[in-house]
Amino acid sequence: MSLLEVKDLKVGFQAVDGLVQAVRGLSFSVEPGRTLAIVGESGSGKTVSTQAILGLLPEADISGTALFEGADLLKLGEERLRQIRGAEISMIFQDPLTSLHPLYKVGRQIAETIRVHDSGVGRAQARRRAVELLGLVGIPGPDRRVDDYPHQFPRGMRQRVMIAMALALNPKLVVADEPTTALDATVQAQILELITELQKQFGIALVLLTHDLGVVARVADEVIVMYAGLPVERADRRTTYYRPHHPYTKGLLESIPGSTGVRQGRLRPIPGRPPSVLAVPPGCAFHPRCEYAMPVCAAERPPLGRVTGDGDHASACWLPHQAIGLGAEAEAVRL
Ligand code: SF4
Repeated sequence: MSLLEVKDLKVGFQAVDGLVQAVRGLSFSVEPGRTLAIVGESGSGKTVSTQAILGLLPEADISGTALFEGADLLKLGEERLRQIRGAEISMIFQDPLTSLHPLYKVGRQIAETIRVHDSGVGRAQARRRAVELLGLVGIPGPDRRVDDYPHQFPRGMRQRVMIAMALALNPKLVVADEPTTALDATVQAQILELITELQKQFGIALVLLTHDLGVVARVADEVIVMYAGLPVERADRRTTYYRPHHPYTKGLLESIPGSTGVRQGRLRPIPGRPPSVLAVPPGCAFHPRCEYAMPVCAAERPPLGRVTGDGDHASACWLPHQAIGLGAEAEAVRL
């Protein structure tokens, strides 16, 4: 059984003119110890999806199912959800300063996270665990740094503190939302390495949300690319990088500086911008930016269909596979 199985998740918000749909039907599953990367630009719905699943959007209109070890997170009461968040599912955010309290020492914050979920743990024991966690994530001199405030750590070290907090309760699943954005390339690589090492060590499942396909190149088992609230491509990491089908995925790959090994040509940024949730184009939402767009693309939305002869690879595009010259002799068909 999957650790987390999400089916047909839809998330909307009430606006002046009616319901605005930010996520329009997302399904995925996450297995214990595996990494799923959900990739998309701002507004693609990746963050909203996970926030909805974790009960962080009480004002949203949410439908679908999100089974975590068999229990539907979308139907649980706030108290049970609060217990699951942190203890069984934890989060790592892009900016640790928004999650760490600036006026409390980091050790106290980690210790309190432990004590809130387990009242049987005494202060001294929780502090010892905080020191242990800081050491585990590579903070030098953890028994000294446990009494420092968040601003006393450089940015990369603060992200390590966040990771320590996320691991404090031995979660089964960690959701990391742009955990390395805004870090320089060297620190970014170190943080990714740390996350994957700890994930392997403790058998944690990871859902990694990012706008950058380059970030997931070394860490993801499976990749879902989202655009305008919908998944447009789903494949294992290798297929995503070497045999992408959807023009949007291809565009993301071609706009990675330094390339990914897929092709070493010049950078080709995707023209235009992603649509606002208030004005999603009809048909394929990507059609105004797509160099392969055909008349059918503006009229009918392509379903997420399996790419024939390519395992579980799925793409939501009316193009036959070979048309974008990515090497596979396959064609998208309805699932
Ligand atoms: Fe481009 Fe049409 Fe495919 Fe959309 S369906 S990605 S517009 S070719």
